[in-house]
Amino acid sequence: MPSLEITTMIGCPLKCTYCPQDTLKTAYRSSTASTGGTAPSGRGAQRTFLSLEDFRTVLSKVPENVRIDFAGMAEPWANPDATQMLESALRAGRAIAIYTTLFGIPREECEQILTLLHDHLEQLEILCLHLPDDNNSMRGWKHSTDYESNLERFLEFGRRELSNLWIRESTTSTSPRFQVMTMDGSGRVHRQLAHMNVSAPPWRGNTRAGTLAAPPEQTPSLFSTPTHHAAVSCSWTPFYDRNVLLPNGDVVLCCMDYALKHVIGNLLTGDYESLFRSEEMTRLRVINAQPTFSKCSLCKSCSDAQVYKLERTSWFPVSHPGFEIVGLASDGWLAPDAEIRVYASQARRLRLVLRVPEWLPATYPFEIRFVLGQDAIESHLIPAPGRYEIDCPLVETGTIRIEGGQWFRPSELPGGSTDDRYLCLRLDEQHVAS
Ligand code: SF4
Ligand code: SF4
Repeated sequence: MPSLEITTMIGCPLKCTYCPQDTLKTAYRSSTASTGGTAPSGRGAQRTFLSLEDFRTVLSKVPENVRIDFAGMAEPWANPDATQMLESALRAGRAIAIYTTLFGIPREECEQILTLLHDHLEQLEILCLHLPDDNNSMRGWKHSTDYESNLERFLEFGRRELSNLWIRESTTSTSPRFQVMTMDGSGRVHRQLAHMNVSAPPWRGNTRAGTLAAPPEQTPSLFSTPTHHAAVSCSWTPFYDRNVLLPNGDVVLCCMDYALKHVIGNLLTGDYESLFRSEEMTRLRVINAQPTFSKCSLCKSCSDAQVYKLERTSWFPVSHPGFEIVGLASDGWLAPDAEIRVYASQARRLRLVLRVPEWLPATYPFEIRFVLGQDAIESHLIPAPGRYEIDCPLVETGTIRIEGGQWFRPSELPGGSTDDRYLCLRLDEQHVAS
């Protein structure tokens, strides 16, 4: 689905730990500096906020089949003109999506927004509420009675008007039209909102194709950054047309591009088609078609890339297994914090062939559990050293912790080993079975 995400301002005040805001601010400053301090529009490059006038200019240039997403690289309502932009898009008959924290929405404007959405419900493809979580990942959020009142009204609207409705966004992705999310592995909302009876599914994020450089202890809910030594395209769209607009009119490749690595044009100075004829877009397409890794393309480090395998003279799309085992060493040992991250639910089971060696001084029996959220979804008793086949269902997305075991450091056992890791379970084989 083609879309244009609107970044209404630079420097999102919510400062989520999972969002590379500092990278964006630095890149934006230097990209405008490189144009001699003058925006391509000639109207002042250092604009932090997208003006209503520029938004309307852009809107008039974007084809009707391109959805206008109030999302981008900042909370849309951090710009006080956001409601007027929304109104312009809806009155122009545009399909829209909204991803908002509700930050910056004055209490008296809330009703106006919800009335607009109600009156143009068919145009509203997705309403996603991004709530603060209990781990304070959304560092800039502050509780207020206005916020809580707005949240109540948006929740009531979403549940009433949009629940149980879905939108097909690509051949592989169907999304609910009303979504509530946090940026946290538990999905628990901030404790100051706990009384509101709202919950979100467990969340796992990506590193924005390696752009996010926050310390791992601040960002435990991340998938690792892939390195594709293969040809790739975008799994969301075959035409690279899910782009992001910045306040100065520049357009970047997609929502991974917080470093502004792939600026493909400017919608204040150029037309929409010029984005796809641009030098940068041509260069990216050429690199992505090469069956090798390159740091010059974000897609080669992106978890949303579609990977292709070249067999003699034919390309074959590589289907993704839909899960990964994290905390697995190259020699097969699982770390005590090993986990299975399932990001596409499937009616299949993962069979792990695990070995518990005789030389570990464990006390038997002990139990190995697969735990999703708070629930043990599978458990197995280990009665003695040996080789065991344990199945883990992959029916729900989320992170499955592998709990149990008794962990020992070989370096602390008699025998003179230098292996300093905590060991208990070795993975001999893994198979996926229906
Ligand atoms: S994730 Fe969204 S709300 Fe959080 S800092 Fe980034 S743009 Fe702002
Ligand atoms: S970086 Fe990822 S999301 Fe962006 S266009 Fe490339 S594959 Fe798609």
